[in-house]
Amino acid sequence: GVIVELRNAGKAYGNIRALHGVSLKVRPGQVTCVLGDNGAGKSTLIKIISGLHQHTEGEFLVDGAPVRFTTPRDALDRGIATVYQDLATVPLMPVWRNFFLGSEMTKGPWPVRRLDIEKMKQTADHELREMGIVLDNLEQPIGTLSGGQRQCVAIARAVYFGARVLILDEPTAALGVKQSGVVLKYIAAARERGLGVIFITHNPHHAYMVGDHFSVLRLGTMELSAERSQITLEE
Ligand code: ADP
Ligand code: ADP
Repeated sequence: GVIVELRNAGKAYGNIRALHGVSLKVRPGQVTCVLGDNGAGKSTLIKIISGLHQHTEGEFLVDGAPVRFTTPRDALDRGIATVYQDLATVPLMPVWRNFFLGSEMTKGPWPVRRLDIEKMKQTADHELREMGIVLDNLEQPIGTLSGGQRQCVAIARAVYFGARVLILDEPTAALGVKQSGVVLKYIAAARERGLGVIFITHNPHHAYMVGDHFSVLRLGTMELSAERSQITLEE
């Protein structure tokens, strides 16, 4: 099936056409990469799907039915979670507390308020291990972790709270080679768990390492849309 689909979708801010005629599908267990330079329309695309902005042309469908989200809550209710580049975590809060941050926004696996602190810590520890992150101290402020590890905590959190589709906004942009590798491994782990992933990136190498589908935006339109099997790598 297809969870999220844009059909000839677009968005104008007043008379600025930020996005035009864009079609995109997100399937469970697949990573859809969206590439493009600054101003290509990547943020606008994310905002439409995550409920921050509305499309002004074409169609946006979830589970095959047209939708129009008016708040981020609408997106979360449909299992669409976004991990933003800068705002994913609160640096001074302990790691475990960050894991539950924003959980009141989601339906979640159970009512979070009923959990005691020890149980929350155990849950965060378990979930992070499941996804392959081992931290010796969940009490440390999350700001002490590397950028890659913080991204991973944010992704693990979204997975735990029932995301079906994960939108990752340039998760490797600020990272070095090694930390990027950690995050890419993590994206692969989310895909193995059956999530559909929209991976926004400037970096074609990172896209190729985890991508099943590739869409390239340029000045608001889709310049290229290809399956992995259609891509050939030439030196
Ligand atoms: P990207 O994320 O790929 O850098 P954006 O979606 O931010 O691209 O921007 C696409 C185009 O739309 C750019 O020309 C940008 O200046 C314009 N744009 C984005 N957001 C707004 C806005 N809120 N108001 C007016 N123009 C905007
Ligand atoms: P990014 O790297 O996240 O795409 P941008 O610098 O393109 O960052 O845009 C930052 C934010 O400002 C985005 O959310 C975008 O929608 C908004 N934006 C971009 N261009 C404009 C504009 N011309 N007018 C108003 N808002 C804009």
